[in-house]
Amino acid sequence: MARYTGAVCRLCRREGTKLFLKGTKCTSDRCPIEKRNFPPGQHGKDRKAKIVGYGLQLHEKQKAKRMYFTLEGQFREYYEKASRSTGVTGELLIQQLERRLDNVAYRLGFAISRRQARQVVRHGHVTVNGRKVNIPSYQVNAGDEIAIRDSAKKLVIVEQAAQYAAQNPVPAWLEANFENLSGRVLALPKRKDVNLPINEQLIVELYSK
Ligand code: SF4
Repeated sequence: MARYTGAVCRLCRREGTKLFLKGTKCTSDRCPIEKRNFPPGQHGKDRKAKIVGYGLQLHEKQKAKRMYFTLEGQFREYYEKASRSTGVTGELLIQQLERRLDNVAYRLGFAISRRQARQVVRHGHVTVNGRKVNIPSYQVNAGDEIAIRDSAKKLVIVEQAAQYAAQNPVPAWLEANFENLSGRVLALPKRKDVNLPINEQLIVELYSK
């Protein structure tokens, strides 16, 4: 399945919740969810059916998938790996999503959204333990040092993102240095460290059918 390249605010309106895909706009009153929280399209406003059961599980999976900008196949692989590992499947699923390098770059303030962070990684601006890594899905480990390459430190999007991120709390599992545009993975993320409105249990129920 191809990656979605349309207007991302439509995705939030489709899910009926903020997915935080546009950086600063998401926390401002310009966010379309604040004014038009109904599905996009001509008849979006008229659709009032309550979502239950399978629909609810599907909805939750779509929401998580879109928040982290992953494709269906990759998302399913995360679930398969989590279900084969020892521990709570839903929590391990979220942990793998959080450990993605594009997400970590976003959390450390290298970009104002996961979408932009994905681009920053793809363009080779990020290093892990001193080596360039341009794979957005790369899984970071405890102790890893993540940084923006010197050649990219003056990029306007990176500078603006760092200023924005410095005003927001960094998750407990990461340590950020906004001046140096670098950070460290202190430990693998636990579910309580991830403040996103995702009900991972519904996703597990969907895939385990
Ligand atoms: Fe979603 Fe952000 Fe657009 Fe609001 S501004 S609809 S949260 S992507």
